Amino acid sequence: MPNWLGDALLARPLLHALRRAHPRAELRAVGPASLLGLLSADPVCDAWDAWPAPAERGALAARLRAWRPDLALVLPPSFSSAVFAWHTGARVRIGYAHEGRSLLLTRALPRPARGERHLSDEYLELGRVAGAAPCEAPALPVREAAREEARALLQARGAAGAPLAILGPGAIYGPAKRWSAERFAALARSLAREGWRVLVCGAASDRPVCADVAGRAGEGVPSLAGETGIELQAALCASASLAVCNDSGLAHLAAAVGAPTVAIFGSTSSAWTAPLGARVRVVQRAPVCSPCFQRTCAIGYRCLDAISVADVERACREVAA
Ligand code: SF4
Repeated sequence: MPNWLGDALLARPLLHALRRAHPRAELRAVGPASLLGLLSADPVCDAWDAWPAPAERGALAARLRAWRPDLALVLPPSFSSAVFAWHTGARVRIGYAHEGRSLLLTRALPRPARGERHLSDEYLELGRVAGAAPCEAPALPVREAAREEARALLQARGAAGAPLAILGPGAIYGPAKRWSAERFAALARSLAREGWRVLVCGAASDRPVCADVAGRAGEGVPSLAGETGIELQAALCASASLAVCNDSGLAHLAAAVGAPTVAIFGSTSSAWTAPLGARVRVVQRAPVCSPCFQRTCAIGYRCLDAISVADVERACREVAA
C-alpha cells in the first residue's frame, strides 16, 4: 500500500476490484502503521501488516514467504517496496517500472506521466493485469467506537444538532497547496451566518494555520487540529454535511467516508489526485504554469489567488445540495 493517506485511499478501488475478481483469495495488505486502524475497518482485506522499519523488514518478508503468496502488487514506486515484494517469494510481482526496479518485478508496466491518468486508475491498472476488472470502492466504514467518540466531542463543543461543516486549511506539502487562511476564515464566517457549525480540522502539523483560520473567523469556530486521531477524524467527517479542504489527506478522508467534499487545488493536478466520490467538487484555477507540483511558488501563487471565496461557496452549495 502507498504511504500517504490520500494515496492509500485512492488504492481502495484496487482492493475491491481484487476482492471481486478473486472472492476466495486471501488478500493481505502491507501499509503504514498509522493508517492500519483506519483502513482495516473495511473488511475488503483478510489481514493487514504494518510496513516495518528497515531492520525489521526481513522478518516480515520471511513471515509472508511462509504464507506463500501467489501474487504481489507493488503500489509505491520505491525501489525498497519492490525489493520487499521479491523477498516475500511471490511468484508474480506487478508494479510500475521506476528507480531501476524492473528486474525485481515479473511484470513492470511503463509509468504514465503524472496526471495522464487518475492515480486510482494507475493502481487499478496493476489489478487489471492480474485479472481484476476496475470497480468503485464503497464508502470507507467508520467503527462505532470512533462514531461514539465523535458524538461525545461534538456534544462537548456544543456542535451537536446543527449541520456540521469541516474546514481543512492545512496541507503538509507546502504553501503552494494552501488557499489563504483569510479566505478560509471568510468562508467560515459565511457558513456560520447560514447556520452551520464550523470546525477547523487538521493534523498536529496543521495547528498554526488552523489556529490562524479559527482566530480570524471569530468566536464559535474552534480549531481541533492535532486533537483527533485519524479514526476520530474520519468519524467527524462522516458526521459532517460539508467538508472544504485543500488538496490534502483530510480531503481524501472526508470524501472516502461519504461527506460532501469541496477540494481546493493549487500547484498539483486534480486530474491525477482528485478525491474519489460522487459528492466531490474540485475547485482549481489553472494558469499556464499549472500543474507545477511545487511546494512553494516563485511567482506569487496565482493558481490559489485566482480562487475566490464566492467560487468556493458556489461549490459548497452544489455539493451540499
Ligand atoms: S508556478 Fe503556477 S501552478 Fe505553480 S504554484 Fe505558482 S502559480 Fe501555482
